[in-house]
Amino acid sequence: MRPVIGRTHATSGAVAVLAVVPLLRQHGVAVDGWAVPVAAVVGAGSAMLPDLDHPSGTIARSLGPVTTVLATVVGFCLGGHRNGTHSLLGLAMFTGLGVLATNAGGLALGLYLAFLFAIASAAVHVSLVKVPVLHTAACLLVGAALTRGALFDSFSPDVIPWAVGIGTAVHLLGDMATVQGCPLFWPFWRHRFNYAALSTNHFTERFVVGPALTFIAIYLAVAEVGGVEMLGPAWKAAVEVVRSVVPA
Ligand SMILES: [Zn+2]
Repeated sequence: MRPVIGRTHATSGAVAVLAVVPLLRQHGVAVDGWAVPVAAVVGAGSAMLPDLDHPSGTIARSLGPVTTVLATVVGFCLGGHRNGTHSLLGLAMFTGLGVLATNAGGLALGLYLAFLFAIASAAVHVSLVKVPVLHTAACLLVGAALTRGALFDSFSPDVIPWAVGIGTAVHLLGDMATVQGCPLFWPFWRHRFNYAALSTNHFTERFVVGPALTFIAIYLAVAEVGGVEMLGPAWKAAVEVVRSVVPA
């Protein structure tokens, strides 16, 4: 049985987080401006976190030796592939780390966001620079930029732990749709829960599900920063500019 591919995990993580944003806002979590793209990146990256138990997986290769060693250690401590990281304990640990990084702020939050950005971009097969070391440097820069936004552009990072929890949960839901399922109550009860036995058809996933999820993610992100209402006026303004430039 083919596992759910990384790209589907990452895009469904971003979609789920963006879809929950209105609900979070209703419950007093500030998600404005910069917080929307940050939430999407964190959701996408977190939806890859449970596969950090696989030394030869997409995440393990995302930042070279750093992530290979990390994945080997995580896999060793949490019972190998699709065990501890795919349980409620793993979900609590990843979310707890998100809370710690958010509360710590500064460098810790920057590195955490850079890491999530790196694994999200690895999942969707975007390499910022072909040379691995430069790609790592570019990811660190993006992390710094995201944190700078968090610290100085007055967006509240409160949404980050929510996005981590939602992203990770979406990964478990995705894997539970396949035959292998997830051992939710690991290490106490190793029964693997699954609600479906989907065989993820490569063609449908690549050419239908993937693009649809990407489109929904982009639409939701634009809508949530108030962009959809701005599209009409922006179009009118553009037409006016063209009219004034082009002689009748
Ligand atoms: Zn998985």
